[in-house]
Amino acid sequence: MSGRTVRWLASLLPRPARDAGPALIIIRHHRVYAAGARPLYRLGVGVEVLRAQLAALARRGLTPVTVSEGLEWLAGGRPGRRVALSFDDGYADNVRLALPLLTAVGARATFFLTAGLIEERRAPWWDQLAHQLATARVRRLEHEGAVHDLADAAGRARALRALMPGLRATPAAQRERLERLAERLGVDGAAPCELASWEECRTLAAAGMEVGAHTLTHPFLTLLSAPEQSAEIADSFALIERRLVLRPRGLAYPGGDHDATSLAAARAAGAAWAVTTRAGENRPDTPPLELRRRGWSEGACLGPGGRFSVRLAMTELEGGFDGLRARRGRGTPVGSPG
Ligand SMILES: [Zn+2]
Repeated sequence: MSGRTVRWLASLLPRPARDAGPALIIIRHHRVYAAGARPLYRLGVGVEVLRAQLAALARRGLTPVTVSEGLEWLAGGRPGRRVALSFDDGYADNVRLALPLLTAVGARATFFLTAGLIEERRAPWWDQLAHQLATARVRRLEHEGAVHDLADAAGRARALRALMPGLRATPAAQRERLERLAERLGVDGAAPCELASWEECRTLAAAGMEVGAHTLTHPFLTLLSAPEQSAEIADSFALIERRLVLRPRGLAYPGGDHDATSLAAARAAGAAWAVTTRAGENRPDTPPLELRRRGWSEGACLGPGGRFSVRLAMTELEGGFDGLRARRGRGTPVGSPG
């Protein structure tokens, strides 16, 4: 039985009643794609899915707020629940495609900017890898004992997924591996940077959205030394402050990858809170530097016919599939791209 069918059936089962205490659900989004976009690596939702998600929330009186607003409400201790929306990485499509949808329904969100990459106009590592495979001049790649067929888009997408785990490395090792791969694939040009410009980031803030930090260069934090972690985190706060003339209150750990050193670095940088990729709701006693978030992927919102299903979407958002995913060992792996 396909995952989609299993989720559909599971969404029909009654769920245990939740207690009435305050709960904040933080949604974790990345990119937003125009209709018909067919990227090799899809890291986000189509614009129509986002529109449908916002409509589903609005109908339940859960129009999203920023993470800081959600936390303020949570601290008030009143029963009920709120939804906060967040976008990681700082892609330009967030400004061009998501912002108009948010303002149209009175929603707000927190946007976590990869400040150093935005400053340098450099593509994140997964975009570099996708670009290399998309433009590869060879039709076949032998790499570390495996043969990857690059003749068509499906093969290139499979190769991408197979090569990604090998790039979970320190920035220097990662750069070296990408350079070696570029040689083997016969490509030389750098990937285009699809992150927002600082000017576009200013548009977000001017529209009442919250801006948070997402480190300078999106490293795997736990592979760095303590001083390197501090620099990645503190300098991203400082750079955002310099470019946008506002001090972020919060941080998103890249790919959710964090350890005790990351928490200390976040605290030292002045972060009031930080979000992970660990799934779950936030309660008044959730540690503020390890807030939980929930992905709300396209796949989880589309029914067997490929159409947006409000029931599936809300079951996913309320954690109805968390147990299912844990049983199948398919949670969001910590340190996965984005
Ligand atoms: Zn990210």
